[in-house]
Amino acid sequence: MTTLTKVKKTSSKVPLKGMMENVMEQFNSAADRIDLNPNIRKILKITNNEIVVHFPVRMDSGEVEVFTGYRVQHNNALGPYKGGLRYHPTVDIDAARALAMWMTWKTSLAGLPYGGGKGGIQIDPSLYSQSELERITRRFTFALADNIGPEHDIPAPDVNTNAQTMAWMVDTYMSTRPPAERTANQHVVTGKPTGSGGLEGRDRATGYGVFLNIKFWAARNEESLKGKTFIVQGYGNVGYWAAYFLEQEGAKMVAVQDAFGTIQNTNGIPVDDLLNYSKANRGSIVDFPGAVVLDSASFYETACDICIPAALGNQITSENAPYIKARLIAEGANGPTNTEAEVILIENGVAIIPDILCNAGGVIASYFEWLQNRNGEVWTLEDVIVKLDKKMKTSFDKVYDFAQKEQIDMRTAAFCIAIQRIEKAYIERGIFP
Ligand code: NAD
Repeated sequence: MTTLTKVKKTSSKVPLKGMMENVMEQFNSAADRIDLNPNIRKILKITNNEIVVHFPVRMDSGEVEVFTGYRVQHNNALGPYKGGLRYHPTVDIDAARALAMWMTWKTSLAGLPYGGGKGGIQIDPSLYSQSELERITRRFTFALADNIGPEHDIPAPDVNTNAQTMAWMVDTYMSTRPPAERTANQHVVTGKPTGSGGLEGRDRATGYGVFLNIKFWAARNEESLKGKTFIVQGYGNVGYWAAYFLEQEGAKMVAVQDAFGTIQNTNGIPVDDLLNYSKANRGSIVDFPGAVVLDSASFYETACDICIPAALGNQITSENAPYIKARLIAEGANGPTNTEAEVILIENGVAIIPDILCNAGGVIASYFEWLQNRNGEVWTLEDVIVKLDKKMKTSFDKVYDFAQKEQIDMRTAAFCIAIQRIEKAYIERGIFP
């Protein structure tokens, strides 16, 4: 057993610039392939609404700080805008635009009655107390006002936001409605705690969906997951749950990277032990006993069968793509692989299960939560898992079969299917007036 050396927190200034270029290139390549109607292409390449709010919050010290929050609503041809809220220093209008666009393709591909939106606040939440975060969240919700709503735009958790954040949001939103309308607004956000209208299993849904996609892919390739090795970047909600289900299936986690550092053990890192350790260490995996430290740059070079990026965008680039040993990349994060890296990976025979398919378990479970609240129902975990399995399988089969038939990669296939569904809606309905 080797003890870890303390490492510095990885810079939070991840090169998010370029996410917009990536999503546009992905969109254009699929739009060309399906010969997308040129008028609909004009609509889809731009966002519908962009809301930027500056709002003051009193800090524990008594001083007032002014924050900047964003909400971008890309498209709602298929239904209300849907997408997460992220608290991170890299949140800006460009990142929110790109992430909102990915949400439009994701909800369309999953066959949900939603469009795409995304947003957040440009902060490092580790610098604030819990009560400051509560006041920031409540004031942000108030500043967004009627730009969100249960039938208009429905936020959910993302990086550095969680069920608690959603509980503060729903409470603030409901408290600002007329008394008779309050409870009818519970579905203004999803990903709430189960005691506050949340759905059983929503916490694990994204990571579970990532695992299911890996399992479906393995089955199509006549492989078993037992004994396979995997690496995970980001040990938060998505990364942990994906690792948990893979371990249950007999696979072995051999390296993990989070915002604080990178650890490796070729004999395997126990998934729950690492979670408990990071919970006790302010969310950091650094110094976990039974693993060695690795410099950040070599994380993606680790020998493994499966690689799961589950942190931020633009992590797999032309710099590290040539050294990736995994045969399969399952994108838990949104936009983790840039377009140059993708060319290299495809040339090297690495398969990629694209984000808009791979991490759709979260938004599908959010849809179930929205239905549960809207219909005044309470679903069991079993209801959720059965329905989630079915929806994820339908999406995977659609994309895999289309990719095989057209002899294209899974990302292009997923984009083609998603865009075609929106194109059909516009063609049927026409353009107002
Ligand atoms: P989270 O806040 O729970 O966890 C994020 C993890 O990433 C943490 O372990 C953090 O330390 C790590 N991280 C942050 N910066 C990093 C860096 N520079 N290098 C390495 N690791 C870093 O967030 P989450 O909800 O798990 O979201 C992770 C990704 O999955 C995001 O891209 C998000 O958009 C996407 N996603 C989340 C959901 C969801 O339901 N939560 C759904 C779909 C997609």
